[in-house]
Amino acid sequence: MEFSSKLLENAVYEMSQLPGIGKRTALRLVLHLLKRPAEQTVNLSQALLNLKDSIKFCKSCHNISDTDICEICANPKRDKTVVCVVEDVRDVMAIENTGQYKGLYHVLGGKISPMEGIGPQDLNIHSLVGKAKRGEIKELIFALSSTMEGDTTNFYIYKQLEGLEIATSTIARGIAVGDELEYADEVTLGRSILNRIPFEGSLKAN
Ligand SMILES: [Zn+2]
Repeated sequence: MEFSSKLLENAVYEMSQLPGIGKRTALRLVLHLLKRPAEQTVNLSQALLNLKDSIKFCKSCHNISDTDICEICANPKRDKTVVCVVEDVRDVMAIENTGQYKGLYHVLGGKISPMEGIGPQDLNIHSLVGKAKRGEIKELIFALSSTMEGDTTNFYIYKQLEGLEIATSTIARGIAVGDELEYADEVTLGRSILNRIPFEGSLKAN
């Protein structure tokens, strides 16, 4: 792509570093911003800078939060003995949207993936096992997507909990293999949470 301006080229390059944004889309977005009042670009830049500067991760569940302890963990109405294991904040949002779940979450920050060089030590697994060993958890619900990485991660955590009095369940696999949790419709996801099945049972079924 030949640019008539170095400034334009730089802006397009930075925009195209975002996932799913190719050079053409980046150019379209940059030209769009150029046409709009300067205020819009300032607001966008400021929102992103504020996010990077001030965002926190909940000290308890690792969810993205404005405070040290997120609103879900701090809510006295939530059942703190039930913990749903998810990959990232999108899963928390999807499950919260169903309105069917009253427990807490634990955000791993990814899935074990030897192919991508992501091991258990790169994820928030240690703190989860710590909570479990302190007797804070009665039931753990695995809600990672049904991919090989998701299954590997579930199984790794499950093995870490061996010998502890914790019920483990997994949300029913109504969600097709390879589909990410974030795309499941709310009704299906809500039903999956209510009809969760024991984790041991899901292992035999596979
Ligand atoms: Zn939290």
